[in-house]
Amino acid sequence: MPPTIADTTGSPRTEKPHINVMLAAPRGFCAGVRRAIDAVEDALSSHGAPVYVRRPIVHNLAVVRSLESKGAVFIEELDQAPEGAVVILSAHGVAPSVWREAEQRNLQVYDAVCPLVAKVHREVERHQRNGRKIILIGHAGHPEIEGTLGRLSPDSAFLVRDVEDVRRLPLTDDVPAAYAVQTTYSVDDAQMIIAALRAQFSDLEEPATSDICYATTNRQAAVRTLARSADAIIVVGEQFSSNARRLAEVAADSCALVQLVAGASELDWALLPPSGSIGVTAAASTPESSVQEVLDALCERFHIDVEAMDASAETTAFKRVAVG
Ligand code: SF4
Repeated sequence: MPPTIADTTGSPRTEKPHINVMLAAPRGFCAGVRRAIDAVEDALSSHGAPVYVRRPIVHNLAVVRSLESKGAVFIEELDQAPEGAVVILSAHGVAPSVWREAEQRNLQVYDAVCPLVAKVHREVERHQRNGRKIILIGHAGHPEIEGTLGRLSPDSAFLVRDVEDVRRLPLTDDVPAAYAVQTTYSVDDAQMIIAALRAQFSDLEEPATSDICYATTNRQAAVRTLARSADAIIVVGEQFSSNARRLAEVAADSCALVQLVAGASELDWALLPPSGSIGVTAAASTPESSVQEVLDALCERFHIDVEAMDASAETTAFKRVAVG
């Protein structure tokens, strides 16, 4: 849906340079992020405040602050919630050890793990039961990777992030192996790594469909298209969001002026051209209000014509977390 753009300055049109803004489609919230936010809001309605949330429910501070204002309390670990409290687990998924700790502390837990992350959990657990070595393509330290690795024994799981890591794997070429991919990984990077795995292992089981989720795939494809024609790209999202960082990296393959900003106050005006076109996209965890804030800031400096990319709407929707 094209945004509402208002030139709030009231200054004559000739005083400001003209620029075209292309809005990526799709951009912003995915079905997993919506479901996780709904889970916190539903828990607040059913149980009242406070509702504790382990880690940022999704990787966006505007979302976190908004939920805090409604009574959510964000914690790093479960021992920060009082005994018996209501706790929501984030969309990124957790290791089984977190569930054990919740049980010991008598917490009432609702799991907002994205169903597409849970699908990867089931895959890797099946590979482990079948005695395969699991090669996980992902970024060390990301909560999704911690949650996935946390359900595998250390001698059967190996994390790789590039082709060099594949070459260094301490595995024989004929070992029964399988791979899985972080849902927000770069589609292009994953393809290179998967090609290296196929070349190296003679008995490699692959996911039936890509582990990289529809939202990541669609947003990366849209920004790739945009970056080929725009003079600059603005990715609206957090530096600590894997999804947002990958969008900026994909854009940087085709466009020299790329910036990743959480909101308008972080815009670097030196990275915007004096005329021409700017592409704007947003990570799967970024609310549309942050995009609108950036557009409003652009309006202060430029006369802008906004055009939205033509794309079919995403129809994926997940069942709400059963809260009550
Ligand atoms: S980015 Fe993909 S895996 Fe992550 S919450 Fe959204 S749909 Fe789920």
